[in-house]
Amino acid sequence: MSMEQRLQHAARAGLASGRLPRVQSQCIWGGYGRGDVCSLCGEPIRSHEVEFEVTEAGGSTRPAFKFHITCHEAWQLECALG
Ligand SMILES: [Zn+2]
Repeated sequence: MSMEQRLQHAARAGLASGRLPRVQSQCIWGGYGRGDVCSLCGEPIRSHEVEFEVTEAGGSTRPAFKFHITCHEAWQLECALG
C-alpha cells in the first residue's frame, strides 16, 4: 500500500468513527510544526514541516486538529468523497 493509500484509509476510518470531523476546512492556520502530533497519521509535525491547523466551527470544545499537508489533503479528499 502506498503512503497516500494508507493516509486515505486512516482518513476514512477517522471520519467513520467520528474521530475526525466531516467538514470543508476553512479555518486554516498554516505554519511550521511545533512537534504536535498529527490528527491523522499520529506522527509529530516537526519544525521543518508545515502544519495545518483546523478548528471546528460552532464553538466546539475539542482542541484544534493539526495535520501535515499530505494528511490534510487526504482528510479533505475523504470529506469530499463522503
Ligand atoms: Zn500526518
